[in-house]
Amino acid sequence: MAIAVLSCQGCGRCSQVCPADAILRNGGKVVKIDEGKCREYGDEGCRKCVEACPYGALVIMD
Ligand code: SF4
Ligand code: SF4
Repeated sequence: MAIAVLSCQGCGRCSQVCPADAILRNGGKVVKIDEGKCREYGDEGCRKCVEACPYGALVIMD
């Protein structure tokens, strides 16, 4: 499982809900998801970031 970042608006909600501190941001915008940290919450991820994004910018890639 990997998470693609599309058009991030830099609101920060995803990193607020991520229990793994796996979301790396620069200038507010998501630049990378640390997949190693994310996987600690299951092979499918916890998906909290995807659900939290009001812009649909995070997309699960199987
Ligand atoms: S799926 Fe969960 S652990 Fe992985 S980056 Fe999103 S919020 Fe963090
Ligand atoms: S919740 Fe969505 S728009 Fe906000 S910082 Fe995260 S990816 Fe970007």
